[in-house]
Amino acid sequence: MNLILFGPPAAGKGTQASILVEKHGYIQLSTGDMLRAARGSDSELGQRVAKIMDNGELVSDQIVIDLIDEQLALNSGAAGFIFDGFPRTVGQAKALDQLLASRATEVHKVIRLVVDEGQLLARVTKRFEEQGRKDDNPETFAVRLVKYGEDTAPLLPIYAEQGKLFEIDGMANVDVVSDAIEKALKTGR
Ligand code: AMP
Repeated sequence: MNLILFGPPAAGKGTQASILVEKHGYIQLSTGDMLRAARGSDSELGQRVAKIMDNGELVSDQIVIDLIDEQLALNSGAAGFIFDGFPRTVGQAKALDQLLASRATEVHKVIRLVVDEGQLLARVTKRFEEQGRKDDNPETFAVRLVKYGEDTAPLLPIYAEQGKLFEIDGMANVDVVSDAIEKALKTGR
């Protein structure tokens, strides 16, 4: 089962991805985590993307597509993948379809965590206190939300049209959201 966890920054995608990994043994592929790891290792890629990430902008499609391609190859025997924070543009979504088709599989379900954007800043502030992420500040967060609306939200009608989109209340507590995701996974299409 290949799933996309969809939603704006701080919607709870990472938290739910970890639960899914635990429950099902799927592999979580978070492009944000991969890019932060690249930065942490002071690699050439990390240096290239640092400023873009700190400004809340999106790095180029090709960079994240290559990262995903690499991870799909490394985990070829996986029971399934959870795409977290990817795809974020129509180009990335098309590339993902191709990468999966070349491995005789596809995106099976897209789980959208529907959240009240007005309450996300409080979550981001809390996360900054816990994790110290440089881009979890009000100014950068505002840019990230705009990018989500402009570049990422347009994917929703595409997945809805394909009958793959499941919408879940992401404002409920973690366990309730997780139960709702499990239910969506069991729903046939
Ligand atoms: P995230 O942890 O998913 O919120 O990602 C943190 C930052 O990494 C984003 O604000 C972008 O700068 C960059 N990033 C992560 N995933 C992508 C992606 N799929 N496409 C472009 N940029 C990304």
